Amino acid sequence: MRKPLIAGNWKMNGSLALLARFDEALADGGPGDGVDVALITPFPYLVPALQTFRERAVGIGAQTLNPAADGALTGEVSGAMLKDCGVQYVLAGHSERRTLFGESDREVRQQVAAALQHELTPILCVGETLEQRDADRVEEVVLSQVAAVLDTLEPGERQRVIIAYEPVWAIGTGRTATPEQAQAVHALIRQRLAEYDSTLASRMRLLYGGSMKPDNAAELLAQPDIDGGLIGGASLKPDDFLSICYAA
Ligand code: PGA
Repeated sequence: MRKPLIAGNWKMNGSLALLARFDEALADGGPGDGVDVALITPFPYLVPALQTFRERAVGIGAQTLNPAADGALTGEVSGAMLKDCGVQYVLAGHSERRTLFGESDREVRQQVAAALQHELTPILCVGETLEQRDADRVEEVVLSQVAAVLDTLEPGERQRVIIAYEPVWAIGTGRTATPEQAQAVHALIRQRLAEYDSTLASRMRLLYGGSMKPDNAAELLAQPDIDGGLIGGASLKPDDFLSICYAA
């Protein structure tokens, strides 16, 4: 009952030429109705991506937003602007934003709230570092990142959130969580969601991210609580990305 979502996070990569290659790769219609597909591009490519994929079932997302409504915030982009341009998704709390740009749970919560206010679908990213995993703190870290945001939302708002579990040690490292490791954390998140509401728990899509590739995607996506993927490196190669979409 949960439709898988495969979202490619280009990070600070990509080009108009890459968009054109995706357009070509999708010329035969793409993976069809069984899976939602999204590309999360850098800001300058959002509008060209929306134009390129207007006739195709590819959702477009931004990598962050500034929760303020508007104002003297040079370099920032608001939720209202993303909505105005037709963007559908926005990441919140990707581990690179948390570590490299110092985003706290409080800021992530404000971003999710702003996304919801502007009818964007937030993809809330959570995950532990290797140090935290080695110290047996996976459950505590991941569930506190989830609760820091979801505790503050109304029930109707929670239903509109997607969560991506991305163990920091698996991001861009080629070291993927095993299907069992990933499934275990996804199951914990879903149990935590059931504390809010069992319907929410059964409906919310939980994506896995961290070195998902064509050769490990099928096994990860076959896990009962993994409802899709947030793909970094492999989303820069249209063939790899599409083969993950087909695996879903
Ligand atoms: P990766 O990145 O697939 O390159 O590990 C995933 C992510 O950071 O979203």
